[in-house]
Amino acid sequence: MLDLVRSSVRNLKPYTPGEQPSADRKVIKLNTNENPYPPSRRVMAALRRISADRLRRYPQPLADSFRKAASEVFGLPEDMIIAGNGSDELLTIIIRTFVERHERIAYPWPTYSLYPVLAAIEGAECVEVGLNEDYSVPFKKLSEVKAKLFFIANPNAPTGILAPRQEIRSLLDAVGLRSIVVIDEAYVDFAEDNCLELVKSYSNLIVLRTLSKGYSLAGIRFGFAFASQDIINELLKVKDSYNCDAISIELATEAIKDQEYLKETVQKVKAQREWLTERLRRLGFRVLDSSSNFLWVITEGLIDAARLYYTLKQRGILVRYFDKEGMRDGVRITVGRPSENRTLIKVIEDILKEPGR
Ligand SMILES: *Cc1c(COP(=O)(O)O)cnc(C)c1O
Repeated sequence: MLDLVRSSVRNLKPYTPGEQPSADRKVIKLNTNENPYPPSRRVMAALRRISADRLRRYPQPLADSFRKAASEVFGLPEDMIIAGNGSDELLTIIIRTFVERHERIAYPWPTYSLYPVLAAIEGAECVEVGLNEDYSVPFKKLSEVKAKLFFIANPNAPTGILAPRQEIRSLLDAVGLRSIVVIDEAYVDFAEDNCLELVKSYSNLIVLRTLSKGYSLAGIRFGFAFASQDIINELLKVKDSYNCDAISIELATEAIKDQEYLKETVQKVKAQREWLTERLRRLGFRVLDSSSNFLWVITEGLIDAARLYYTLKQRGILVRYFDKEGMRDGVRITVGRPSENRTLIKVIEDILKEPGR
């Protein structure tokens, strides 16, 4: 039977998501960059209002109510917006829209490790350009790569570093109209700048957003993208007719309208991010300056990173360790609630004091 499977799938090393322990297990979960705070009350109220009729009928194919609300919030026309079942779905739609088998997709490495997996499924070739010594994205080198599509996570993962808008511009100018550039802004709600403005002037740019991180809605699977009307029209042809379900459209619409609540939770996460950075540095770790809701913590010979991950797990704290090139010297830690972060620091202090590590 297995010889019937497409070779791109048979040979695929699948993406490994972070562990999701069952809800009743008491763990401190700092491994998948979920927001530690609940979604807006307006979202929860909308959830309780969902009617039987809403569920009986098919949802809006284009998530009209969300597009209208997002258009007002972000000041771009509705036909420059597409909604997806998580921004992960939009990444797949983008590849299927633009990249033929054996065409190339380029991105810096390390970055979001889903990109190579999605590319491999579609039979695309990947060009990975190593980060600079200081973990910044090598825009100059990237812009010399001939590729159909570029993926730039900004802020990048797992580093958390935000590239200046000017660098993104220079990449866009360098590739001209021969490539599509995707700026994946999954974490941009925690950053001081973003590239949304640029979609007005670059017809080959796609800016990708999600409700999973800043808006505390990873569970409903809702992402969206901004691009020129021409790009959006092509993406709409490729997506499933009803790619977003009725409940998620309803809740996403409320979430995007409540920018006040977003600001509040983001402020709290940022304050904790600064606290955690400072405490981890004091313990001797190298912690990159993060513009997101997680930290890349390089263990600097204090302790083996894999060992730190396993020891924390034994003590009920999940962080993320990637057994991948360029990522074995650190762990990625999601910023949690104050009590969680305090416990984390306490437990790491204990681990570092133990002999024989
Ligand atoms: C979390 C994440 C996504 C996925 O977001 P969903 O909307 O939950 O699918 C996309 N890109 C990056 C870089 C992420 O970290």
